[in-house]
Amino acid sequence: MKALVYHGPGQRNWEEVADPVIDDPADAVVRVDTVTICGTDLHILRGDVPAVTDGRILGHEAVGTITAVGPGVRRFAVGDRVLVSCITSCGSCRYCRENSYGQCIGGGGWILGHRIDGTQAEYVRVPFADNSLYPVPDGVTDDQMIVLADILPTAYEVGVLNGNVQPADVVAIVGAGPIGLAAIMTARLFSPSHIVAIDLADTRLDAARSFGADVVVNPARHDPREVILGLTDGLGADVVMEAVGLPQTFEQAVTLVRPGGHVANVGVHGTAATLHLEDIWIKNITITTGLVDTFSTPTLIKLLASGKLDTTSMVTHRFGLDEFTRAYDVFGDAAATGALKVLLTAKR
Ligand SMILES: [Zn+2]
Ligand SMILES: [Zn+2]
Repeated sequence: MKALVYHGPGQRNWEEVADPVIDDPADAVVRVDTVTICGTDLHILRGDVPAVTDGRILGHEAVGTITAVGPGVRRFAVGDRVLVSCITSCGSCRYCRENSYGQCIGGGGWILGHRIDGTQAEYVRVPFADNSLYPVPDGVTDDQMIVLADILPTAYEVGVLNGNVQPADVVAIVGAGPIGLAAIMTARLFSPSHIVAIDLADTRLDAARSFGADVVVNPARHDPREVILGLTDGLGADVVMEAVGLPQTFEQAVTLVRPGGHVANVGVHGTAATLHLEDIWIKNITITTGLVDTFSTPTLIKLLASGKLDTTSMVTHRFGLDEFTRAYDVFGDAAATGALKVLLTAKR
């Protein structure tokens, strides 16, 4: 089969590799029908995630069709349409028993496109299939479902729930890429009074408005802190989410929160950021970090299937599965191309 293979920082290639096979009784092999590229894949290509080594097939999000199951798989069968989630769960370790699948120590967690071969390929092997795959409900398209593989649960769990968004809150979101937009969409489930989106790209601020941001700020023109103080009687935002993954955006997020508020870091960081404890020790601020657990995926699937969440406008570019090289170029240059989610679909 063909797959998108990582060959060290800056190096990626769509090339011929061996087909995946059932390796463990709990495995399934899934034919990839629709797949996407994540901001995390760009971090990997910049060398920010050293656990990813030369020869690894990237990708941790897909919708596909099962072509083989191991003898231990009970809940799925060949031919089932499934969501391949970014998080795999062994189902029995301490963390999986506490719904913290992202921290699985039984061989799961974020392993696809990280510690084992991923979804940017014609086929992918998914370990612990019973606990890790989700059936695609009738009437839900691949385009709708694919955002549930990572960005929607990540924004909801690591941003909105960790940030403890409450009704009438002022919520600031630093970064209006796909994760930031998903955070806007899922924060709205809690009726905040204002959602403020902050980004240097006007195309992304336009998208933020269409996804429900009440106020958008381009720091090149306006000071986000002044805008937020103006909305909050000079106090600061109740919740700030960092959805970029740079030292300066994390440090900015901490300056925007009110005393007693929450800063939820969602971004993937590759270098150290400074925490100004000399300023904030007195302010009762809660700072959270997190990798998604995907415990909310069944909830989000219900919201999607019932039309309460509509993510289709997040898809800005479409490619064939064999066009990964171009798709990466377009997604990697999002400031110029306006790319949010790029989808690659296999021609059948
Ligand atoms: Zn991802
Ligand atoms: Zn586990």
